[in-house]
Amino acid sequence: IMEIEADKPIGYGAFGVVWAVKDPRDGKQVALKKMPNVFHNIMSAKRVLRELKMLCYFNHENVLSAVDVLPPVDSPYEEMYVITQLMHTDLHKIIVSQQALTTDHIRLFLYQILRGVKYLHGARILHRDIKPGNLLINSDCRLKICDFGLARLEEPDESKYMTQEVVTQYYRAPELLLGARHYGNAVDIWSIGCIFAELLSRRILFQANSPVTQIDMIYNLLVDSNVAPSQQFSHRSNSTLDMEARAQLYQSVSRLPAAPSTFYHLAPNMTHEAAHLISRLLVWDPSKRVSCTEALRHIYLREGRLRYHTSLCRCCCITAEGIRHAADHEFEAMPDMVFDDSYEDDLRTVDDVRNAVTDFINSQPCGRKAPLRINPNSAVFPRFVASTVAHSHPVPTSSKMA
Ligand SMILES: [Zn+2]
Repeated sequence: IMEIEADKPIGYGAFGVVWAVKDPRDGKQVALKKMPNVFHNIMSAKRVLRELKMLCYFNHENVLSAVDVLPPVDSPYEEMYVITQLMHTDLHKIIVSQQALTTDHIRLFLYQILRGVKYLHGARILHRDIKPGNLLINSDCRLKICDFGLARLEEPDESKYMTQEVVTQYYRAPELLLGARHYGNAVDIWSIGCIFAELLSRRILFQANSPVTQIDMIYNLLVDSNVAPSQQFSHRSNSTLDMEARAQLYQSVSRLPAAPSTFYHLAPNMTHEAAHLISRLLVWDPSKRVSCTEALRHIYLREGRLRYHTSLCRCCCITAEGIRHAADHEFEAMPDMVFDDSYEDDLRTVDDVRNAVTDFINSQPCGRKAPLRINPNSAVFPRFVASTVAHSHPVPTSSKMA
C-alpha cells in the first residue's frame, strides 16, 4: 500500500475541500477531494454516492473525473476521499483577474463548456450548478466541468417534484426563479448563456441581490426592451409583488427569443454573431432555448472547435492526406451509455448507503491500481483532517432534495 500526503489546500467546493497532492504511483500532481460528514443523513449520503459514481462514470476531456477513490481512514467512517485530475485555476478567478481574455480564449472556453455539457446531457445528467467557479481551467486553456454535488438525472415524469434550490442565483434560469416544479436540461443552457455574456463583458450579467430582483432584471433585458413602451410592464409600481404574483404576471410575456440587437450593448467587443448566439441561449421559455448540440452548430463556435481539435484534443488523428479526423468521426461525442441511477431505489437508510459506498470502493471503480491510502502520520495531516467546507450552500436536507 502506498501512502499519499496532502500538500496544500487549493479550494473549497459546495460539499468538499480540495487539496493538491502527489500521486506516489506516477509522481503526478492530482487533486484530493475530502467530502466530510457524508453520512449525516440519508439525502447527503445518497448525494455523495451519486457524485462518486458520476465521477467514476465520466470519460470525457471536458468533464472532471475520478482518478481513484481512497478507502476511509476511520471506522465507521464519516468522510470520503476521491482523487481527480488537478487543474490550475477556474473561470471565475480568470474573469476577475487582470489576465487578458481574447476573443480566441472566449471561443475556446465556450466551445469546451458546450462540448462537456453536451456529454452530460447525453448521459441524461443535469448539472444544475454551472457557474464560472465550477469550470476548471489549465494553463494550456483546457477546461473541465466540475462539482457534481447538485447533479441528478433528468426526470421524465412531469408530475414529480424537483427541488428549486439549485444553481447559484446569478445563473438561475427564469423557470427556476419562478418556482417551476419540473424542469429539464435547459436550466444548464441558461447558465451557459449567462457565462458567455460574462466572458465578453467581464461582469456578471444578472447580478441581483434577491430572486425577485433577479427575475425582474432578466425580464427587463429580454422582454421589456423588445416591446413598445405602451406595453411595457412597470416594475416600480409592482415592486411589492411576491414571487407567486410575479409568476402569474410573467405568464403572458413573450415566449420568443429576443432579437440579437438586445445584447449589443452588453460588451464593447460584442459582435452580431456573439449576440445572435446569446439570443438563442438566453431564451425566457425553456422549450425554445437551444440544446448544446444546436448551439455547437452555431457559426460562432467554428473557430473554437478548430482550435481545440488542432492543439488540445485527444480525439483527432491526421490521415495520410493530411485530413484531421476525430476517432469516431464526431468532434463532440456523446457517452456510450446513459448514467444509471436505479441503484438508488434500494437505498432506504444511511447504513444502506454506507454499505453501497463500501461495496463501490471495493469494486475498484477506477480500474486496478496499486492501492493508495492517506498517510495519517504526515506533518500536514492534522490540518487536512481539520479542514472543512468553507462556506455553506443553500441546499435543503429534507427529503425533497432530489
Ligand atoms: Zn479532436
